[in-house]
Amino acid sequence: MRKIGHFIGGKHVEGTSGRFADVYNPATGEVEAQVALASQAEMDAAIANAAAAQPAWAATNPQRRARVMMKFVDLLNRDMDKLAEALSREHGKTIPDAKGDVIRGLEVAEFCIGAPHLLKGEFTEGAGPGIDMYSMRQPLGVVAGITPFNFPAMIPMWKFCPAIACGNAFILKPSERDPSVPIMLAELMIEAGLPEGVLNVVNGDKSAVDAILDDETIQAVGFVGSTPIAQYVYARATASGKRAQCFGGAKNHMIIMPDADLDQAADALIGAGYGAAGERCMAVSVAVPVGESTANALIEKLAPKVEALKIGPYTAGNDVDFGPLVTKEALARVKGLVDQGIKEGAKLVVDGRDFSMQGYENGFFMGGCLFDNVTKDMDIYKTEIFGPVLSVVRAENYEEALDLPLSHEYGNGTAIFTRDGDTARDFASRINIGMVGINVPIPVPLAYHTFGGWKKSGFGDLNQHGPDGFKFYTRTKTVTSRWPSGLKDGAEFVIPTMK
Ligand code: NAD
Repeated sequence: MRKIGHFIGGKHVEGTSGRFADVYNPATGEVEAQVALASQAEMDAAIANAAAAQPAWAATNPQRRARVMMKFVDLLNRDMDKLAEALSREHGKTIPDAKGDVIRGLEVAEFCIGAPHLLKGEFTEGAGPGIDMYSMRQPLGVVAGITPFNFPAMIPMWKFCPAIACGNAFILKPSERDPSVPIMLAELMIEAGLPEGVLNVVNGDKSAVDAILDDETIQAVGFVGSTPIAQYVYARATASGKRAQCFGGAKNHMIIMPDADLDQAADALIGAGYGAAGERCMAVSVAVPVGESTANALIEKLAPKVEALKIGPYTAGNDVDFGPLVTKEALARVKGLVDQGIKEGAKLVVDGRDFSMQGYENGFFMGGCLFDNVTKDMDIYKTEIFGPVLSVVRAENYEEALDLPLSHEYGNGTAIFTRDGDTARDFASRINIGMVGINVPIPVPLAYHTFGGWKKSGFGDLNQHGPDGFKFYTRTKTVTSRWPSGLKDGAEFVIPTMK
């Protein structure tokens, strides 16, 4: 059985804890490898390596650091097919979608090539007599990232690219479900010229996470995953004095106004609801048509599209819309929530629970499900399902529709489909959600903007990537300097002001 260890100090290191987790190929249902689960001692070794490598890396000028990112981008492009194959094999998503996963991370690496510019401080000449004032952005030291299974390339890169471009050393604790790609990314960073020890990948479970959270060398933690764990990581990391930003789960609503182009809206819902089997934090999981006739027409358009979804293994290439769920447990959980929806009185218009893939009967596949008449009090409305299940909640008017995402506990993404500029503008202004789409179903900001949810979708300050990424991984030092030649001076007892 293939064993996946850690990547510490620029080298592959075997796991020594004696603990392993199975890594599946979700399409076949077979165990493909075993990933090592780090002990405290292994985590300590990685942190010591990072701490030893960080000062020299921070002292490397930002343009040289940016050149490593430039080369890394080239290498990602060179190895795109290999990365996508490894990613799909452990995650289950289609090859084109896996390439999207890599490319969305690559775009953040491209943004980080701008480090010399982004790290420039501010300067005020003559802030007082003989006084100049300037600020510097300095790296934090050793920082860590803890990432989820659903984007095993993109999210690690969202974390380590800005952190490293800023001069930090990084400990990545990726998901134990699909650990191969994060290690491949670390190998490419070394090939791109990153000094050994600046990027370390330590595989593990809760013990590895706790070792990061309690460690005193690590200065900051970036987390992405489910809300209960995000909340836990935020509380424990900040309790030990770390800077933390922890992004959690989601329940993304898309409002469809009566004036919307319904064909466009239905296509958007199919792609955003069922792409990657719904295992995206920006997946649309709730459609809110406004008015009975909009709702009836929408269901009529959606139902045949959901029935016609093409499901299969990633090896089937472009003929597949989405693949299996990540694990047997995830499959059982999603099917259980569909059962629960029926019990709660929602109308299951399309039932994908019994879908079986010929030749892949042990794979973790299920078909698309479509619910109508879902209401606010149902568990399937409150819970993040994270599967190929779209719920339609009917609203009588715009205010009633707006109130749904406004009062939901999650606040990651949302969208409105309308031809009316006033309504769209009002929605963007009043909604309490981090990322908003107007006739765009999955409004994931590009690398040079920032990504982050509100409410229970994000804990801590600042967003991921873009300028916020650089702020999170640096701290500001402000220098006031005075060269008093020619100025008469005496003791000053009053706080200096500009009066
Ligand atoms: P998860 O919370 O199970 O795992 C995330 C990370 O936390 C993994 O590295 C895992 O090893 C670790 N972990 C799991 N249980 C832990 C525990 N008890 N103590 C300490 N660490 C623990 O999430 P997942 O299933 O891998 O990913 C799916 C979730 O991530 C969904 O809720 C999705 O919405 C969310 N997500 C959010 C964003 C965002 O930016 N808001 C992006 C992608 C995914």
